[in-house]
Amino acid sequence: MTTSPDLPRVVIVGFGFGGLAAIKRLVKMPVRVTVVDRHNYHSFLALVYQVAAAEVESTDIAYPVRSILRRKPNVEFVLAEVQGVDLDKKVVLTDRDPISYDYLILAPGSVPYTFGIPGAKENAFPLTSVPHALNLRNHILSCFEEAVHEPDAERRRAALTFVIVGGGPTGVEFAGALTELIRGPLIKDYRTLDIRETRVVLLEAMGTLLPALFEKGRSYALDLLRKRGVDVRLNTPAERVTPDAVTLKDGTVIATRTVVWTAGVQGDPRFKASGLPTMRNGQVTVLPTLQVPDHPEAYVVGDLAYVPQDGGCVPMVASGAVQEATVASFNILRQIQGKEPQVFHYKDPGMMVAIGRNAGVASLPLQVVPVRLNFTGFLAWAAWLAVHLFLLIGFRNRVLVMLSWSWDYFFFERAVRLIVPCRDAGI
Ligand SMILES: Cc1cc2nc3c(=O)[nH]c(=O)nc-3n(C[C@H](O)[C@H](O)[C@H](O)COP(=O)(O)OP(=O)(O)OC[C@H]3O[C@@H](n4cnc5c(N)ncnc54)[C@H](O)[C@@H]3O)c2cc1C
Repeated sequence: MTTSPDLPRVVIVGFGFGGLAAIKRLVKMPVRVTVVDRHNYHSFLALVYQVAAAEVESTDIAYPVRSILRRKPNVEFVLAEVQGVDLDKKVVLTDRDPISYDYLILAPGSVPYTFGIPGAKENAFPLTSVPHALNLRNHILSCFEEAVHEPDAERRRAALTFVIVGGGPTGVEFAGALTELIRGPLIKDYRTLDIRETRVVLLEAMGTLLPALFEKGRSYALDLLRKRGVDVRLNTPAERVTPDAVTLKDGTVIATRTVVWTAGVQGDPRFKASGLPTMRNGQVTVLPTLQVPDHPEAYVVGDLAYVPQDGGCVPMVASGAVQEATVASFNILRQIQGKEPQVFHYKDPGMMVAIGRNAGVASLPLQVVPVRLNFTGFLAWAAWLAVHLFLLIGFRNRVLVMLSWSWDYFFFERAVRLIVPCRDAGI
């Protein structure tokens, strides 16, 4: 593949699921590609909660961008923070130099959304990136270290209380994994602590966990988490978060040093500020071809895109980002060839949630007939493990993750329990 400067330049914002899928297609096309990301690695977000729960190492679920691009001569990488786009001038604005484009694929994912709940933005721990997960893991382990030396029972209980806000897949998966971490390795490590003083609370504002799943799967997840010791509270929105407590709508105050936010995400407000048409949650409304209205050279894919489909919209999941990025890339090629871009149709690959050891919920559509295969328990858990192992990037990562999972499964141990806070340079 030549990299002639005469070739059209495609700029991709974000090297996540959408960005990676776009590159896989564009690498074979007569274009120059520039991909911009604030991180120099691709993150497999589906396993981010396992980093926070000390189940796998952060390096096992991330892959260096430059390694992926090593044999892709028509793709260059820019490590930069994207601050917006100027659609009229066809320029991406970054904290480095502006980057001009002929075609644009915006795939920057989403950012946490706290519904304006006082204190949530300042005091809750987000869980949408590898740095978030590392930060949370350090904090959880530090809470145990502090609790060991805390003579005051009330303050000790607050340090050992972990509140997760949001009963969607991430909240449910993290609640299961955190409970296993505490009741397995941590309680063995901190022999002087009383397990009865530890608490994992899962708050959900609606009347059910996992609202996108089938009825039996939802009640299975609820019963299982409660059986494993998670204090699940439905119809219980958080109303205020402080560094030391979370206040619930009914006035209850739970003393805690740790509120984990998994309740919502939104489109990065900087794209709305750039003049892109957005929904209330900041997602950019695109045409059925994934183009930005009045800007046929600009595409939005993945979590940032609001793509209407069959009376609803494409969900914010990895498969949506991958499918959209693939179609956007082909549409760019069609435009270069003077053809009309094609309309996007989402194919639902189903949904799986792992709730902890031997327990999962899966809902998979059968492709030939309009029927879904819904199942729970060991089989759903095993299917989740197999699919996520397969989707991970890199043979080394797959081996290391499988090793960590096996170690955990057979020995009830977590290999990764280091507290490694990051700090700036300086002596
Ligand atoms: C904890 C968690 C668990 C999940 N589990 C699942 C799951 O099990 N199954 C599933 O299907 N989906 C899951 N999802 C959702 C799925 O990860 C997203 O739908 C998918 O990643 C969206 O792809 P994307 O390409 O839009 O964005 P992402 O994959 O999020 O990639 C965005 C990229 O853009 C970069 N970026 C963002 N903003 C900027 C900026 N301003 N400047 C420079 N770079 C920027 C980021 O660093 C990132 O690399 C999960 C999400 C989270 C957070």
